[in-house]
Amino acid sequence: MNIILLGPPGAGKGTQARRLVEKRAMVQLSTGDMLRNARASGSPMGRRVAEVMDRGELVTDEIVIGLIEEKLESGAPGGFIFDGFPRTLAQADALEALLASKGKRLGAAIEMKVDDDALVERITGRFTCGDCGEVYHDKTRPTAKPGVCDVCGGTDMKRRADDNEESLRQRLMEYYKKTSPLLGYYHAKGLLAEIDGLAAPDTVEAEIASVLSEGPGGS
Ligand code: AMP
Repeated sequence: MNIILLGPPGAGKGTQARRLVEKRAMVQLSTGDMLRNARASGSPMGRRVAEVMDRGELVTDEIVIGLIEEKLESGAPGGFIFDGFPRTLAQADALEALLASKGKRLGAAIEMKVDDDALVERITGRFTCGDCGEVYHDKTRPTAKPGVCDVCGGTDMKRRADDNEESLRQRLMEYYKKTSPLLGYYHAKGLLAEIDGLAAPDTVEAEIASVLSEGPGGS
């Protein structure tokens, strides 16, 4: 099934997407990761989006739709997970058209609900292993040995440039203004499933699994 993980920054979309990739042969398409890779590679597009991302604003629809279009060319045995895309109604329309052109469709848009106070706490303490992508948190999930990844032993721990309170405020504003209308959009199509993003990661994973087996209306 092709699914969208919807929710504000810090809702746990990336963490859950990684679990689905490991366990279900799904393919994660994170436009945030693609844009960060473009920045790291120093490509002209990467340089163009850097400041916009650091301010916590959205990059243009045209850029992210182009990135997704490219990635849809490769297959996904267990389906695609759209993580951080779509973020505007124009992107949602484009996604539907792109999927239809490949004979595919969306199975569910899963909203991970969380409150803003929890997001500030989650985002400002977040860091990831640069080698394997495992996500940690200063208070709630520190590494067993400081600076060393529990999963792969890597020592290249990274914090995102936009994981600070000021950017987060802007990212939340963008989410409520431009992305939250997608909740109504997918609800009207019978594709919206709501889950509690504040529950423990294993519980969230189980709720997503039930959407995958029973569809958006079944959970
Ligand atoms: P994320 O990793 O999903 O939190 O995205 C990080 C940043 O990348 C966002 O704050 C935006 O600046 C940009 N970005 C990621 N995905 C999109 C998208 N679908 N549309 C516009 N901007 C995006």
